[in-house]
Amino acid sequence: MHNQDLLSRFIFDNTAVRGNHIQLSQTIQQALQHHNYPTLLKTALSELMVASALLAATLKMQGALVLQIQGRGKLKLLVVECTSQLEIRATAKWTGDIVEDNFIALLEQGQFVITLDPKDGRQTYQGIVPIEGHTIAEILQNYMQRSEQIETRIWLTSAHNQAAGMLLQKLPEQLEIDTDAWNRICQLADTTTKQELIELDANELLHRLFHEENVRIFEPHTAQFKCSCTRKNVGNMLRMLGTEEIASILAERESIEVHCDFCNQAYVFDAVDAAQLLASETTLDTPKLAH
Ligand SMILES: [Zn+2]
Repeated sequence: MHNQDLLSRFIFDNTAVRGNHIQLSQTIQQALQHHNYPTLLKTALSELMVASALLAATLKMQGALVLQIQGRGKLKLLVVECTSQLEIRATAKWTGDIVEDNFIALLEQGQFVITLDPKDGRQTYQGIVPIEGHTIAEILQNYMQRSEQIETRIWLTSAHNQAAGMLLQKLPEQLEIDTDAWNRICQLADTTTKQELIELDANELLHRLFHEENVRIFEPHTAQFKCSCTRKNVGNMLRMLGTEEIASILAERESIEVHCDFCNQAYVFDAVDAAQLLASETTLDTPKLAH
C-alpha cells in the first residue's frame, strides 16, 4: 500500500534503456468518483490513466497528453488527459449495460487517438490509428512501435481503485554499448506479477526485478487528479451550438446548465450570459476536448 501517488523515472547505466514506474490510488478515486462507471470501464480508465502518466513522463514537452480510445459499439469513448505536471483527468461515454469482460469487444471499428497539446500556442500534434491489440498496454506498445518507431514495453494493472504500471523504452538515438540490454531487461521485467506492481513501491520493485543490473532511480514526482475545465472553455463549447439552438433552449428554461464531463462541475449560463457569449470573439482553447 502507498499513501502518495508517485511516478519514478529510472535508467540503466551504460545502456539505451530507460523506464518509468507509477502507482496511483487517490488520483483514481478522485478521477472516477464523478460518474457511475461500469467496473470494466473503471478498470480500463484506471489503466489508461497510468499509461498516460508513464508516456507523459517520457516527453520533453510542457503541456498535455490526451489518450482516447474511440468506438462505434456500446463503448463510444475513453479519454484520459495527463499534463507534464502529472495532473490527470479521465472520462468515458457508453450506452446500455456493460456486462462484457473485455472492453475491446465493446468498441467496433475502434481507433486510438493520441494528442500532444503544448498549451503554449504551438501546434497540436495528433496521431490516429486503428486499435491493434487486446489490452491498453498492447494498444500503446503497438502505437509507439509502429507510429513513433520507439521500442516500448508497458505493464499495467489495476484493482479496487488502485492501479500501477511500468514502462521501458529503448532510446533510438543513443550509441548502444550493451547490445543485449534491451532483451535482457525486458525479460526480467516480464517476470513481474500484477500483485507486485500494485504492492511494491518503485525501489522495492526495481530491486526485485533488476538487482543484477545497474539501475538508477531518480526522485519521484507526485501525480494527482486535477481538472483543467474553465467557464471560458465551457462557454466556447456552448457557442458552437449556434445562436438558434441556444435561443431555443432558453425559450424553454431560464438557464443552460453544462456539466464538465471530467469533474461534473456545473456551469450555468442565463439569457444575459448567453447573449454576452454569442457577442464575444470565439477563442477556442481546447477544441478537441469539446465532445
Ligand atoms: Zn472539469
